[in-house]
Amino acid sequence: APHAPRTFRIAAIPADGVGPEVVAAGRTVLDALAARSGGAFAFDWTEFPWGCGYYEKTGLMMPEDGLDELADYDALYFGAVGWPSVPDHVSLWGLRLRICQNFDQWANVRPVRFHPGVVSPLRAADSTELDWVVVRENSEGEYAGLGGRNLAGRGPGNEVALQTALFTERGCERILRFAFDLARTRSEQKVSSVTKSNAQQYGMVLWDELFARVAPDYPDVATESVLVDAMSAKFVLHPEDLSVVVASNLNADILSDLGSALAGSLGLAASANLNPERRFPSMFEPVHGSAPDIAGRGVANPIGALGSAALMLDHFDLPAEAARLRAALDATTAAGVLTPDVGGSAGTDDVVGAVLDHLAG
Ligand code: ATP
Ligand code: MG
Repeated sequence: APHAPRTFRIAAIPADGVGPEVVAAGRTVLDALAARSGGAFAFDWTEFPWGCGYYEKTGLMMPEDGLDELADYDALYFGAVGWPSVPDHVSLWGLRLRICQNFDQWANVRPVRFHPGVVSPLRAADSTELDWVVVRENSEGEYAGLGGRNLAGRGPGNEVALQTALFTERGCERILRFAFDLARTRSEQKVSSVTKSNAQQYGMVLWDELFARVAPDYPDVATESVLVDAMSAKFVLHPEDLSVVVASNLNADILSDLGSALAGSLGLAASANLNPERRFPSMFEPVHGSAPDIAGRGVANPIGALGSAALMLDHFDLPAEAARLRAALDATTAAGVLTPDVGGSAGTDDVVGAVLDHLAG
């Protein structure tokens, strides 16, 4: 019997800078995929005009009850947050981190993919075989928001600020198990756990101990435990050794930017903020920020946002559609339809047009 058509309700939050440009690209491409599906599935979009422009009018990045408005969607498709007129920590905590924390999106998946036709600064990376995933703990760690300013304040010049990292057994263990489960779905079954436990002797040592405790439950998965400084070098020198790299909030944030730069541009990198229990919607967004320097010029690279749309298709259990989309992205870059950040002269719309052509072909 034919499947009933499925309609996925998606909340789009384009927000700031290049966010609206790349979210529009994602909507166009996803709608084209749905149109080709012969009615098998469809997307029902609602757009929420939140972000720094909203803040300038209301003093809030999103409405007080905004989370309630989002709670029943099947997924959130996010652009980017931040604009020079609003302090970065205000805009980030007021929108993106508020959503991540309240919807318990504790696993942040950031694939590092190399694209045919895009020059990588890596010596060894004419190979598009390179492919690994950074799994970022997304609910605690260094971004727990704990600490304070002026704690032992004795006047100007003597301010003391504490920024406390929080590591819980539950938080660490669930992200480590998530990484092992993800490794089992990949051709190379290996997890690299990253800490700085030689210098940070409480939380990071707990993490290392839990990694050692969890690993025997996955005897089929190879493991290594690597310090973050050494892992930074490894990203550049031996990326072929990597499959799943799991790290704390800050360390994985930095490593995933490094990974996307190695692939050729921050504009290429995709990301999923997952609530693996599916109690709340998960959020799909490019890794890059709002890029104020190029916003509004029609030259933003949409590949990161489109790769995030592919991760959303995976989440909707449409792996064949996700693969179709990734193949169209690869065909587009291979044909040299590239935005300026990756050495081309195409605009966002040219890339979208080429992706649509490859989907149709
Ligand atoms: P955030 O704090 O939100 O991470 P950021 O200040 O670190 O933001 P981005 O806004 O991501 O950084 O921009 C960093 C650089 O990368 C800028 O020069 C920007 O133009 C470039 N960049 C980011 N995203 C894209 C994109 N989609 N296409 C082209 N260039 C991009
Ligand atoms: Mg950044």
